[in-house]
Parts: sequence; structure tokens; C-alpha cells
Amino acid sequence: MKGFYGEFGGQFVPETLIPALDELEEAFERFKKDLVALRELDELLRTYAGRPTPITYCRNFSEKYGVKLYLKREDLLHTGAHKINNTLGQAYLTKYMGKKRVIAETGAGQHGVATATVSALMGLECTIYMGLVDAQRQRMNVERMKLLGAEVVVVEEGSQTLKDAINSALRDWVTNVKTTHYLIGSVVGPYPFPEIVAYFQSVIGFEARKQCLEIGFLPDVVVACVGGGSNAIGIFRGFLEDDVVLVGVEAGGFGDRLGEHASTLSFGKLGVLHGNYSYLLYDDNGQVVDVHSISAGLDYPGVGPEHAYLKEAGRVIYTRVYDDEVLFAVRELARLEGIIPALESAHAISYVIRESENLRGKRVLVNLSGRGDKDLSIILGRLS
Ligand SMILES: *Cc1c(COP(=O)(O)O)cnc(C)c1O
Repeated sequence: MKGFYGEFGGQFVPETLIPALDELEEAFERFKKDLVALRELDELLRTYAGRPTPITYCRNFSEKYGVKLYLKREDLLHTGAHKINNTLGQAYLTKYMGKKRVIAETGAGQHGVATATVSALMGLECTIYMGLVDAQRQRMNVERMKLLGAEVVVVEEGSQTLKDAINSALRDWVTNVKTTHYLIGSVVGPYPFPEIVAYFQSVIGFEARKQCLEIGFLPDVVVACVGGGSNAIGIFRGFLEDDVVLVGVEAGGFGDRLGEHASTLSFGKLGVLHGNYSYLLYDDNGQVVDVHSISAGLDYPGVGPEHAYLKEAGRVIYTRVYDDEVLFAVRELARLEGIIPALESAHAISYVIRESENLRGKRVLVNLSGRGDKDLSIILGRLS
């Protein structure tokens, strides 16, 4: 059925938003066949974002752990993570639809900064919704967004975090849908958002596959961290048809009880959140719970519907690692390779360390979704 991945996905939104979703889908289908538009976006990805990103072979890590570790270096992109692939693409689509304003939600602030960045570049008006708790925790990102010319609306409802920011952004969208595009930050939300974000992020996987073949191999295993799931879908899409094991690593937090982690695919139940049907974390009263991860970017109680489908289909293995293992992985990659990974990306590295016995001699490609500069205070605070 259209808009579904197996039984997952769909468009569970107020009636008033359906025309906007239809308009978006129509523009997206037109865009994908428009060679001029495709070339323009490709040019932006190369000359502004910094594509293609290299693949780095980690010699020291590989010697120590007996695994042939390769990194897809999304951490080297402008603004420091894969998020710019999606924000550039959707900002382009916004102009393609003749709209002049974007809104976005942000938790840790990374998606907000990436959205404010491309809005400045493309001359779009930009409003970012952020929970009060998050805005206080991530003051530097609030300042970055403002410096980039965005309006930051601090949300004081509910738990004052990401899910409240999303609800506020959705309300804005319902009101201003004629002029405004809602620039969603991961492979979540109502259809066609999961498909659009996956499409813009799949540049990671197709580029990586080509680069691996140029070196002379296909990886045995591809590993990525999963929050909403966009960097993971992005790299997986390049290898879905190959005989390659795909592994998604969620945030195990500090324990297995509800509220202690953000392992939606390990512990979640089926339900509807933010416009789509997928796994999510809610309690016995049906209330979506506050989740925990050492990395703010994985701190989301839902997960993209395509991941739910890939899990049910048995095509991707989903697992989780704990906060302490993640910190260890950050230090290992920093000391062995001179690369400080984002805490999110370190979840994938952490999986390789834990499974190194089983992965002995195998070629493992990890999507290094972002760099760790933003996490320095958390890392230092926890390592001391
Ligand atoms: C936001 C973020 C993530 C999590 O988002 P996904 O949609 O799951 O990719 C992962 N890594 C980094 C560096 C991020 O900034």
C-alpha cells in the first residue's frame, strides 16, 4: 500500500495536512526526474556540504581488535554530521514548491543548526522549535541558530523536550501550511517524509558502495547507530541488495527498564507517533515515555517505519549498547585513530568492539555519522 513499509508508516495526521503531504509528494516525484534540479542539488552537496566524504581504513584499531574497520566519514561534512544531506535536500524542495519559510523541531540542536544553516544559504525564513530543557542544555546551539538568522521558539509545555517541540512545530505547520515547509530531521513523520529523508541520506550508502568497490571489496558487515534512523537508512540503502550483513545499533542508555534507554526496536511496542505507525516506547497507560541516552541525538521514543519493516523482514539486525561502552569506544577511536566521534556514532564503534571476536577478519564498514566536538563537555564529565 502507498506510504507503507510492509504494515508500517502511513499518514496519521489531521485532515488539514493531507493536501500539504500530497503537494510535497508530487514535488518530490517531479524533483527526482528533473535532471537540472538533481544536478543543482548535487553541486550544493559537493561544493557546500563537502561530498563525497572519504572512507578511512583504521589500521591501528584493526590491528588491536582483529577486525578490518572502515569508516564512512560523514563527520567531515559542513556542520559536522550527516544531517546536512537531508536539510540541503529539503531546503531545495521547499524552494522547488515555491515556499519561502521552513520550520523544524530540534532536540539537542543539531538538526536546528543544520536547518538554520541551509535556510541562510537558500534565503529561506526559518523558525526552530526547541523545548526549554533542551534550549538550556544546548545554549551554544541556540546561539548558533540565532547567529544564522533563525528564530528560535522555546517550548515550555510538557516535558519541555523534543516531543513537545515536535507537537508545537506540527501546530505551526497546520496554521501556515500554504507558505511553510516542515523540514523533518529523520526518517520519521507521516509519509512521504520517511521516504524523502531516506532518499536524501541514501547518498551515503550509494557513495560508500562505489568507494568500497573502487578499493576492491564489498564489506561483510555495515553498522550504523539508530535514533530516528536516518543515517542508518542512508547507508543501508546502498547495500540492501547485496550479500552484506546490516546492523543497527540503538541507545541502550544505562539499563533495560523503561525510561533508562532509547532502544525502541528492542523494547518498543507498536503504535502511532508523529504521524506514522511503527515501534515506540510507551508505558502501560499508553503514555509515550521520556527516554534516555548519553547522546542527545539518539534520544527519541520512536523509530522510522522502514526500520520496523527491515526488522520484521529480518534484513537488518538491531541491537543496543550501553552508555559506558559508548564512552569507552569514544576514547578508543580518539587514541587509536585520532578521530573523536559523536557520541551517537560511537554506538556503532562500540558494537564492533563488543563483537570483535565474532567479527574477526571481517571487513566492517561503520557510518561515522558525526564528529564529537559538540559532545566534549559530556565526554569529559563522564570520563573523569
Ligand atoms: C542526529 C544524529 C544522529 C541520529 O539521527 P538518525 O536520524 O538516527 O541518524 C546520529 N548521529 C549524529 C552525529 C547525529 O547528529
